[in-house]
Amino acid sequence: MGESKTVHSPIVTYVSMISLLTLCPPFVILLWYTMTHADGSVLQTWDYLKQNGFQGFINKWPKPTATAWKIIGVYAAFEAALLLLLPGKRVEGPISPVGNRPVYKDNGVAAYLVTLTTYLGLWWFGIFNPSVVYDHLGEIFSALIFGSFIFCIFLYIKGHLAPSSTDSGSCGNFIIDFYWGMELYPRIGKNFDIKVFTNCRFGMMSWAVLALTYCIKQFEQNGKIADSMVVNTTLMVVYVTKFFWWEAGYWNTMDIAHDRAGFYICWGCLVWVPSIYTSPGMYLVNHPVILGTKLALFILVAGILCIYVNYDCDRQRQEFRRTNGKCLVWGKAPSKIEASYTTSSGETKKSLLLTSGWWGLSRHFHYVPEILAAFFWTVPGLFNHFLPYFYVIFLTILLFDRAKRDDDRCRSKYGKYWKLYCNKVPYRIIPGIY
Ligand code: NDP
Repeated sequence: MGESKTVHSPIVTYVSMISLLTLCPPFVILLWYTMTHADGSVLQTWDYLKQNGFQGFINKWPKPTATAWKIIGVYAAFEAALLLLLPGKRVEGPISPVGNRPVYKDNGVAAYLVTLTTYLGLWWFGIFNPSVVYDHLGEIFSALIFGSFIFCIFLYIKGHLAPSSTDSGSCGNFIIDFYWGMELYPRIGKNFDIKVFTNCRFGMMSWAVLALTYCIKQFEQNGKIADSMVVNTTLMVVYVTKFFWWEAGYWNTMDIAHDRAGFYICWGCLVWVPSIYTSPGMYLVNHPVILGTKLALFILVAGILCIYVNYDCDRQRQEFRRTNGKCLVWGKAPSKIEASYTTSSGETKKSLLLTSGWWGLSRHFHYVPEILAAFFWTVPGLFNHFLPYFYVIFLTILLFDRAKRDDDRCRSKYGKYWKLYCNKVPYRIIPGIY
């Protein structure tokens, strides 16, 4: 087992798996129901559940219909074809713990542009109305919940029977293998990278597609688009555009380089991203708040600034690593720690830790603008309801936990060098506070 295989306590795994399986699917459905059928009001949904009990909830659970499966199938097949067929630069990922270096085709921007142009084109020329997606959203989420579970079983079986590389292995516990995954870089054939598909081309792509869907639905419904919806859609689309612009960089992050393809990450990207991440826009469809030009512009500019800073943090770290520290950080030579670590095969390797620029403010400063950006694309809905803010709250918890997980992993990887970094940059996320 490689160094990336974090040691997971069985108890933590059981608890988080049981909560994910039992709480998240109903939550996805309840969120969709509240946003689309209960005026975005948690109280209204609560009253309904109080009156109708569990059976009332089951009655509201949308069945995955043929239309839902067709929409998902066509979308997934289209994205898979783009991933395989569009040209792109050859990019090498980071060396894996057992010494493999995965190779990718960097065609994310092309796939993104083709997807959005095709989707808008289909609408513009009257071939397919995105409102249909909104009208079948509950059924689509329901189909995704079940379909993704089956997909994760496939990943588990593949991990056992036909792993794509030596970055794979069982820890001997079926639940842990299923939940955290067995393969780091599972592939179908040589070129179809499953994690690039689930995380980027299905999950992240669906975010932009659904953001546009909500905007179009409001237009079809009201004959106009409220400025709150314009701000929300623009910020979410700018964020996803930034993601695809930087997709090759994403292949160096924890999600791809450290987390294995299991239920935790794949189910999350296939179900949680399309449903929860897009939910502020879902809310606005039936709540066309008018902000006024000044306020709308203020929120828009603040949101874009946060997305830019988040991008610049990632860019700074990656540029620093790519040039082996021979770059300028905020106009000066970077300050750094030359760290060494031992791989699982006993080899000693060197690595650089940047201690200036954004990475000198705190050890995970990039999470601050990430959370603020999410706040800015939610706030156009103002404060009448709590539910649109669920994503920001969830993201904050996720990133605070992730910062801790990453710190723990880096501490065990770099030992005294990480301690040195912590002494030099004592705050984990918020400079001066935490
Ligand atoms: P990254 O993987 O990009 O960064 C953490 C890694 O960088 C560490 O594991 C370590 O890896 C290396 N590192 C740590 N400190 C330094 C340093 N000082 N200098 C150089 N390298 C360092 O983090 P994330 O994957 O968490 O974030 C990537 C992006 O994704 C961010 O923009 C984040 O906001 C976003 N994100 C969004 C989420 C969402 O749900 N919206 C969820 C998670 C992330 P190594 O082993 O190579 O040293």
